Amino acid sequence: MPRRHRAARDRPGPPAPSPRPRTAAPVWASADGMTVRTVSGETGKVYRCPGCQQEIKPGTPHLVVMTEGGVEGRRHWHTPCWRQERRRRGLG
Ligand SMILES: [Zn+2]
Repeated sequence: MPRRHRAARDRPGPPAPSPRPRTAAPVWASADGMTVRTVSGETGKVYRCPGCQQEIKPGTPHLVVMTEGGVEGRRHWHTPCWRQERRRRGLG
């Protein structure tokens, strides 16, 4: 009786695709001409939210909003403040 040997080794499959990068902003947050990213706030820095003028405490997940094509208009926003600001600007 012939011994059966394994035809194929257990090969690892292709890496699982990650549909969204971790920094992707929620869909509602995006705006024309703007790049919006989510940040975890783990850098330990304190930012000033232009929406409410309050500090964004370290460790607070929030949004970074940039004018497309540059980091010049880069601002850190509380997520709810940006939501309000978008509405104020008529972006959503
Ligand atoms: Zn705010």
